[in-house]
Amino acid sequence: MSIKRIEAVEMEVQRAFCAENKRLLLERYGRPPKALVRAFGCAQNMDDGDKIRGMLAQMGCQFTDSVEEADIALYNTCAIRENAEQKVFGILGQATHQKEARRGMLIALCGCMAQQKEVSDRLKKSFPSVDLVFGPHALYKLPQLLHETLLHAAPGARRRVYDTEDSDGVIAEGIPTLRTDKVRAGLPIMYGCNNFCTYCVVPLVRGRERSRMPEDILAEARGLIAAGVKEITLLGQNVNSYGRDGETGMDFPELLEAVASLPGDFWVRFMTSHPRDCTRKLIDVIARSPKVCRCFHLPVQSGNDRVLRAMNRHYTRAQYLDMIRYAKETVPGIRFTSDIIVGFPGETREEFADTLSLVREVGYQSLFTFIFSPRPGTKAAGMDDPVPAKEKSRWFNELLAVQKECGMRFFDGMEGKTVKVLCEGYGKEKGILSGEKIPDGQALLMGRTEEGMVADFFGDAACIGQFVQVKVTKAQNFALAGAAVCG
Ligand code: SF4
Repeated sequence: MSIKRIEAVEMEVQRAFCAENKRLLLERYGRPPKALVRAFGCAQNMDDGDKIRGMLAQMGCQFTDSVEEADIALYNTCAIRENAEQKVFGILGQATHQKEARRGMLIALCGCMAQQKEVSDRLKKSFPSVDLVFGPHALYKLPQLLHETLLHAAPGARRRVYDTEDSDGVIAEGIPTLRTDKVRAGLPIMYGCNNFCTYCVVPLVRGRERSRMPEDILAEARGLIAAGVKEITLLGQNVNSYGRDGETGMDFPELLEAVASLPGDFWVRFMTSHPRDCTRKLIDVIARSPKVCRCFHLPVQSGNDRVLRAMNRHYTRAQYLDMIRYAKETVPGIRFTSDIIVGFPGETREEFADTLSLVREVGYQSLFTFIFSPRPGTKAAGMDDPVPAKEKSRWFNELLAVQKECGMRFFDGMEGKTVKVLCEGYGKEKGILSGEKIPDGQALLMGRTEEGMVADFFGDAACIGQFVQVKVTKAQNFALAGAAVCG
């Protein structure tokens, strides 16, 4: 498949629409409009949210977190789970209520939900308040789509704008980005997925795998480092298949090593890795690259081979554990996190027990656990699912209990140690240090260790956005507490 890369001249056209929209929006509101941008779901969606903000900023928008103040409310949605969708419909209801009270407000919905036919049909039928709907493939066209919306949103000429055509996807470079987080940044290296896990809607809404060119990724990484970003997360639905589309001349381990070799004071993470495509070459790069965090998110989903086959995951329990074993031997101190689905259609108690035993064997630092939720259009949505919801909830709680036991072990013996923490901002008063007096001239701060452990600590507010050595005084409830010893 040849990848459709949007040409620079097309991006120029979009910039021209930004300038024209700036004029139209000023005319419409009589002042710079206020935009609310809310992104749901994965890190990729958060990054898309920053791109949406970047484009809206070029149209002269200012930003608000309150729907009561918003002239434009834009929701970048996630389709992975049913409850996330229901939440978005609830939020759209609130925005509609606002719109009824304030004429001239615009509502837009984009992201993975927008790309699903049943969702866009429902929006057409039941949410006439939504002016603009577009899928992930059309993100780079937001200026043009908003332009059409503005032309058609005039009283008497009202027509809603939809761009949700099925597509294998595109790559568009040079979309302006306004990053909300100045310390940590997601850096997409590829888009889409070719795997078709039977429960997953991503390949249906995000298109086929397509990799950005290494020079574009490295240029963006250099820009982030120069801007003071300290944590770069390389993003993709399956980063391990980076470059398989044959145009990049580099595979993922080579790209990771190239990014981690850039000069500067930063560290690198990556997500998400598919175990099938994870190689020893990748583990070797982690082992020899001091800037790559020793925390590896490797979603297993189930510990049972029959369930893994039904999920179309293309690896066995033994192959997964073999990779974990190699990583533990090769990268001293490496930690693992994972995703697990409980109650996949047809899963039995015995099969679920295999997941529990795998969790114990790996010893994950933390897990993202979900009860199976059928997604329209996927194979698993049509599979027999005889286990009652109550039973699945019991299994789910059992898994949480096992994980709690495993995860707590990482916190044993931490008191008295000094750890490197990336300080992300101010800490929450109700956290692990609640009730303790903040030393004069210091602030309550929070950050994360290389392994992803959350730490609250006292230190100089100038530490925010910097790496800090923190002496741990307390380790409880899956959090560390302490005080900065320098910086
Ligand atoms: S690898 Fe599987 S779970 Fe991950 S995005 Fe692709 S289809 Fe979905």
